[in-house]
Amino acid sequence: MTVVQKFGGTSVGSVERLRNVARRVASRAADGEQVAVVVSAMGKTTDDLLNLAREINPRPPRRETDLLMATGEMVSSALLTMALVELGCPAVALTGAQAGVFTDATFGRARIRGIDTWRVEEEFAEGHVVVVAGFQGQSPQGDYATLGRGGSDTSAVALGAALRASQVEIYTDVPGIYTTDPRIEPQARCLQDIASEEMLEAAAQGAGVMHPRAVELGLLYDIPILVASSQAEFGSGGGTLIRREVQMEPENRVRTIALDRDVASVTLRHVPDRPGIASQLFGPLADAGISVDTIVQNASELQLTDLTFTVSQSDWEETREISRPLAEELGAADVLFKHDLVKVSLIGTGMQSGPGYAATMFRSLSEAGINIELITTSEIRITCLVNAAHGEEAVRVLHAAFRLDEAV
Ligand code: ADP
Ligand code: ASP
Ligand code: MG
Repeated sequence: MTVVQKFGGTSVGSVERLRNVARRVASRAADGEQVAVVVSAMGKTTDDLLNLAREINPRPPRRETDLLMATGEMVSSALLTMALVELGCPAVALTGAQAGVFTDATFGRARIRGIDTWRVEEEFAEGHVVVVAGFQGQSPQGDYATLGRGGSDTSAVALGAALRASQVEIYTDVPGIYTTDPRIEPQARCLQDIASEEMLEAAAQGAGVMHPRAVELGLLYDIPILVASSQAEFGSGGGTLIRREVQMEPENRVRTIALDRDVASVTLRHVPDRPGIASQLFGPLADAGISVDTIVQNASELQLTDLTFTVSQSDWEETREISRPLAEELGAADVLFKHDLVKVSLIGTGMQSGPGYAATMFRSLSEAGINIELITTSEIRITCLVNAAHGEEAVRVLHAAFRLDEAV
């Protein structure tokens, strides 16, 4: 059987922690399984590398930024391999490219096109544990390309799919997926399992514990993903299984609450309400590779309408540059840019079949004096944009209102 284990930045953040990870990996390999390990860069290495780049050049070239960032995962994969060899466990470290991870050429958020597993299989046949540098692959031109922040999760699940692994195990600094980020709400409860759709929605709405594309791949290739603590004793159970089918919780159908701080909004006020406005605005943003998230257009009054949309903060400056002149062209009276909003989302597949979730959410927020700026929904999610200063409080208020601290 083949298993893929991924260890995040904190889990490989020091020599001591690397040794601890090596012990766990070696004991798994000793059980006779073929083990591929995917690692993140140590601790805050990626942030440090990015800061260095920006110190040299405030707008560093994307290709070289990826080359620089990719080194972080190479360091941790080489060191972990050395620790394994020191323990007498035969192992080999591979860069993403050496492990056959092929991506497109979108530096900074490259997508995996395919994985050619021959080298990994060859190393398995030699009896080696294979340690792969996460977060990176090789572009069609042979350049290093990175998958986007948090992308080592996606490397791990993609490798698991390519190797037909029985399970992908994501080891991190919390014991599993919680009813909300336990750093925000200490009463949050660790879930035994969560449906892939719920986790996908939560990850997309800011639950940083998993990279959304990793969850998507798990769903697509039907691979169960276990999220567990890198500290707990191996085999001691625990952790959260992300999988297709989950037994529905009988009472509380809100599964988790996510907070997304990576929000910036643009409002065009009093735009003449005529056909083609939206395409004139969103076409150029799409051409610039900016992905627009929430879009809300008010009912028009006197043929004038307000239009608000959100983007991620990394696209904020470019969005301003593009939308300011467009707003003028479209005849908007005013254009407002906001940086101080966050998104709070209730997520649960069970919400589809029960009424009243939205009402309880809005009432709880209003009773806490938290103003809702925008509301959006999907079939299994209700999202409110609120002022950033109230984001964490909103999460706690809703956690209590839906009694997520109570075991069901
Ligand atoms: P890694 O470096 O292992 O990839 P991350 O920092 O990316 O770890 O993800 C783990 C963090 O995700 C936790 O420390 C926690 O603060 C945060 N988090 C956000 N939402 C949740 C949630 N619902 N359950 C558990 N952790 C969460
Ligand atoms: N090291 C990368 C990051 O910090 C990728 C990862 O950790 O998943 O975003
Ligand atoms: Mg992560």
